[in-house]
Amino acid sequence: MRRLQSTLERIDRRGYGAYKDLQGSYDLGTFTLFIDRVQRDPFAPPSLVRVRTKENRFDPALCESPVRRVAFEDFLTRGVDGAIRRVVRGNRGSGGSGRVEIQRPSQVVLERTSMVVTREHVEARLAVGLPARGRTVDARAARTVLLEELPEVARRALSQGGVDSERARLHVETVEDAGYLRRFLPDLGLVAFVADGSVLPRESGASDRPLREGAVPFESPEELRVSVELPNRGEVSGMGVPEGVTLVAGGGFHGKSTLLSALSWGVYDHVPGDGRELVVTRSDAVKIRAEDGRSVAGVDISAMIGELPGDRSTADFSTPNASGSTSQAANIAEALEVGASLLLVDEDTSATNFMIRDERMRELVQKEPISPFIDLVRPLRRTLGVSTVVVVGGVGDYLDVADRVILMEDYEPSDATPRAREVTSKFPPRAPLGDKEMRPPKRRRVLASSIDLRRGKRETARGRGLHAIELGRERVDLSYLEQLAEAGQTETIARVIGELAAAGECRSVREVVEGAFAAISERGLGSLGGFEGHPGELSLPRRQEVAAAINRVRSLEVRPDTG
Ligand code: ADP
Ligand code: MG
Repeated sequence: MRRLQSTLERIDRRGYGAYKDLQGSYDLGTFTLFIDRVQRDPFAPPSLVRVRTKENRFDPALCESPVRRVAFEDFLTRGVDGAIRRVVRGNRGSGGSGRVEIQRPSQVVLERTSMVVTREHVEARLAVGLPARGRTVDARAARTVLLEELPEVARRALSQGGVDSERARLHVETVEDAGYLRRFLPDLGLVAFVADGSVLPRESGASDRPLREGAVPFESPEELRVSVELPNRGEVSGMGVPEGVTLVAGGGFHGKSTLLSALSWGVYDHVPGDGRELVVTRSDAVKIRAEDGRSVAGVDISAMIGELPGDRSTADFSTPNASGSTSQAANIAEALEVGASLLLVDEDTSATNFMIRDERMRELVQKEPISPFIDLVRPLRRTLGVSTVVVVGGVGDYLDVADRVILMEDYEPSDATPRAREVTSKFPPRAPLGDKEMRPPKRRRVLASSIDLRRGKRETARGRGLHAIELGRERVDLSYLEQLAEAGQTETIARVIGELAAAGECRSVREVVEGAFAAISERGLGSLGGFEGHPGELSLPRRQEVAAAINRVRSLEVRPDTG
């Protein structure tokens, strides 16, 4: 502590560069402060520090398994974030002076690099704006930040005395229950489960926090009700969505899209109080939407779309500018490539001509390359074992192909399957359903060398917020990846692609992604580097989003897989 103080005194009022002398580690009593990287000036990205406690006196049960450890680290990150808000004044001069930050978690619980809990210690990775007056060192303010505010944050959020152990236990147990339930879904023959009492709607379209006022809690229809025994919560009941083709029907504004969206987020665990803690979906479920304008590189969409005008083959379909229907077909083919047992489709975000073609249009238009999705859902299930949940308000034809129909009325689901059967029997059956097979997409390999990281003299591969990645001079647009939860995942994906480009291999997307995840599980998420950045700003993405990002690189080139 003395050493830190005397260095600060020595460099006071000197040029900002003198802060470099702070680099190193300091014993601050109950914890060690590591100043890893010092920013160049007060306007540059903040300095990187770690706060490591000298012991870990938390109940060992909180991190006795990998799942629990991730949940507990998530809990502590949120605690530090909260403590910073209460303790740190921020804004102590020019630029980012006095700001203290930790990775900002979303509503979902993820493995992150912001916090490391071992048997011996707890370590938080923070970004600190070292205070300046103009462009000179403000030692007094720095002392307040480093020797008063940081220790207080550590005392409140990282010490056994400061942390609410009941809340920590609830957090860990909630996550453990959800993970248990998700792994258990296949044994139950389910693709998703929505617990009774869940709160599905969100505060607003721009927020992932629960709607506080007027939310109607979920209540499962008796016919679809399932009870499960969870390790911590004990027995819970809710709606089981069985494997197969499930239709979510209902009038406009009755909660269909909200249910589907909750299912799409069910691939992740949620924090207690989220309302969707026990809305759980197969972890490889992919929300499929139209995304016109995206680029596509050599994807086999021939099972969905036949020959295009000008004899263009769709077995290796490439375009810098996909249409609504071709983009949706590519999204499905790519999801199947990386592996998905459940597709989630909402009419609101689908291309109409991809979803359906009615009798009259069949008569009029003979040259239609598209097999509408309605003709694919059964073959998908039968030949590839892939289930579907489709939200449809307007197209009754889907009743013919659904194994079951969930009707949403005033946010309340009911089982409308028998009623749907009655309705369909009144009408002549839809034009030949066919016993089409659904082939898996032909394999292709991505050419890593087609990803160019050069930008001037530097190479870059970094996340830009939640929805974009910068690779060299290219900006990859991820706006339509609806299951991307937080910017830390985007950053991780950027680094995975950066390593892929650097390694220059030519493998299938699935192999690339599997390789990256094997490396992460062996060496840890924090090992992804090679680029400038905080060790503490990464969150674990899903394989599906990593693959989706690779597939959206505009310069991407592929080769057919002949091996
Ligand atoms: P649909 O897709 O059937 O048209 P949405 O799912 O978009 O309907 O929901 C319409 C509105 O109702 C949204 O503003 C949503 O937040 C709200 N909502 C959905 N479910 C609930 C619920 N259980 N309780 C209260 N409001 C809800
Ligand atoms: Mg809707």
